[in-house]
Amino acid sequence: MIIVLKPNIKKAEETAVLKEIRKLGYRPHVIRGVERVVIGAIGDERTQHTLETLTTWPQVENVMRVQKRHKLVSRESHPRGSVVKAGDVEIGGRKLVVMAGPCSVENEKQLMKTARAVQKAGASILRGGAFKPRTSPYEFQGLGEKGLKLLAKARAATGMPVVTELLAENHVDLVAEYADILQIGTRNAQNFQLLIAAAKTGKPVLLKRGMSMRIEEWLLAGEYVLANENPNLLFCERGIRTFESYTRNTLDLSTIPIIKEESHCPIVIDPSQGCGRSSLVAAMCKGAVAMGADALLIEVHPNPAEAWSDGAQQVTIEGFAKLMKDLKPLAAAAGREWPT
Ligand code: PEP
Ligand code: MN
Repeated sequence: MIIVLKPNIKKAEETAVLKEIRKLGYRPHVIRGVERVVIGAIGDERTQHTLETLTTWPQVENVMRVQKRHKLVSRESHPRGSVVKAGDVEIGGRKLVVMAGPCSVENEKQLMKTARAVQKAGASILRGGAFKPRTSPYEFQGLGEKGLKLLAKARAATGMPVVTELLAENHVDLVAEYADILQIGTRNAQNFQLLIAAAKTGKPVLLKRGMSMRIEEWLLAGEYVLANENPNLLFCERGIRTFESYTRNTLDLSTIPIIKEESHCPIVIDPSQGCGRSSLVAAMCKGAVAMGADALLIEVHPNPAEAWSDGAQQVTIEGFAKLMKDLKPLAAAAGREWPT
């Protein structure tokens, strides 16, 4: 059930509603919008009629039943769309956000060079993997904590917040100590215990779409984050497995209008994992921006041919700078402010 409070009510009136929701046996989740407060009440769906008595309360504007299985992430529960903050950067607002950096953190020189260059070109968040989910156990697994320390160093030097992946529950505290956004990768997108643990840190969670995940399953995986008291969720489309083998994955840009329709959470597009080919990254970014994506997640490497992971899909520093120039008019046409 969704309980919409009237605008500008007093804190005590809000507290009274929360108390009553708990008394009726439901867990309230408060979503604070610019003008009003919306409360999602989660509990036994068969007895929700009891909550309908709240319609008679003077501070309550409306009580609505959410038919969908994804309740807290649904657009119905928060029609205006959420803005998620990482450091000073707002994702989901008018400004387009570009997250860029190498697939993997390899060494200080590589990371610093890339961080400075992507920032100069207009990126506002630095990406880089320290724990890498590799298909083969013989491939580079990431620098681990050393990589996290380098990311923190790059953040200190540039001021850019950092997004990085966590692979397992026993990484959560360590990664949360360094990262501004916790990335849950495609291979872990339905690792519910990991999602719960990540949510409980209170840090923004960037949830990649599982490579074989249906949109409803993705929305429900996101629901785990909001249901664990963390409203800071970003959905990230990174391509799904199809019969097509020309590209590494099939990047599903239809998720942009679909997530906008179904959810209030921002949508991020990752064209790098999405296509697996650097030559396709620019065109997919342009499409994503024109379609209303809130942010892009782009892999950039000073020398992709020598990258320790995902070399074929990383764009060069020069390629990234050109792409950013080309995106600017498209962002304006889509009604977005440019990051710089
Ligand atoms: C990545 O971002 O480098 C990555 C491994 O992502 P995904 O989980 O989408 O494959
Ligand atoms: Mn990668």
